[in-house]
Amino acid sequence: MAKIAFIGLGNMGGGMAANLAKAGHEVMAFDLSQDALDRAREHGCTPVADAAAAVTGAEAIVTMLPAGKHVASVYADSVIPNADKSAILIDCSTIDVDTARSVEKQAADAGLNMVDAPVSGGIAAADAGTLTFMVGGSEDGFARAQPILDKMGKAVIHAGDAGAGQAAKICNNMLLGATMAATAETFALAEKLGLDLQTFYDISSKASGQSWSMTSYCPVPGVGPETPADRGYQGGFASALMLKDLKLAMDAAKASGAYTPMGGEAEELYQRFVDRGGAGLDFSAIIKMIDDSWDPDKKG
Ligand code: NAD
Repeated sequence: MAKIAFIGLGNMGGGMAANLAKAGHEVMAFDLSQDALDRAREHGCTPVADAAAAVTGAEAIVTMLPAGKHVASVYADSVIPNADKSAILIDCSTIDVDTARSVEKQAADAGLNMVDAPVSGGIAAADAGTLTFMVGGSEDGFARAQPILDKMGKAVIHAGDAGAGQAAKICNNMLLGATMAATAETFALAEKLGLDLQTFYDISSKASGQSWSMTSYCPVPGVGPETPADRGYQGGFASALMLKDLKLAMDAAKASGAYTPMGGEAEELYQRFVDRGGAGLDFSAIIKMIDDSWDPDKKG
């Protein structure tokens, strides 16, 4: 079993590190939060004093941090100067493609092998070890990261070269944000036209309007399989995180010259929803803003 450094033990990283420890790996865990370190210890990890101590002597180094600036600084200050040349470096955070490529280049220039491996699936999937990983990097980097990622996920897919994992993640989530907003406004219109919403679901989920946002994650309570809509839009994937991913997608579209009007519209809608108090609600709760009966002061 390997000695693995794990940096960033938050909502996602906490469960992921616990699964590596459960699989028998020695996990040297670091986070700025003492609570996170205490929880990691309870789950079989070894808390250490700082990121450099976690990295030193590790065969694999996993980071799960909030955004690109955190990844860039942890890599520059702690990972690149202290990592063993034979270690595999795996960043699972969702960050912008440019930062992912620049950090991977800095690692490569220092003789280190790094992959970007953002995830699909939320906190429950992180805890259960059923995440999907989209991996960007060399064939060799992928082959070395895969056995470690396997312990935290149900699928590990090689998306392409450095940054390709992040590119796949933000493209997927741009599509998800746009289809959820479209699904929400469709149900709001169906209701205004007097349709029974379960009947409309039965029709559209078997017709050409079908999408994952409708059939697996319907934003209407009581319609389709159980979803966060049936739990007051608690849990699931927070609207603030959807907005973060849509902003990353829009930045990438601008930088690459891609025309993404639907993604832009989804970003605007989620920005408005977050500004009106929806940040902590599941992203399917956008239907509450689109359905004009929602009172934003109630937030629920
Ligand atoms: P989080 O805020 O709960 O956890 C991030 C952790 O990083 C915190 O515990 C924080 O203390 C720690 N941290 C920040 N700077 C640090 C540093 N310099 N050194 C050590 N630790 C540091 O966030 P999360 O929900 O776990 O998300 C992590 C990443 O996963 C994000 O990029 C997010 O976009 C992505 N993601 C989240 C979800 C989700 O449902 N939460 C789903 C898919 C992807």
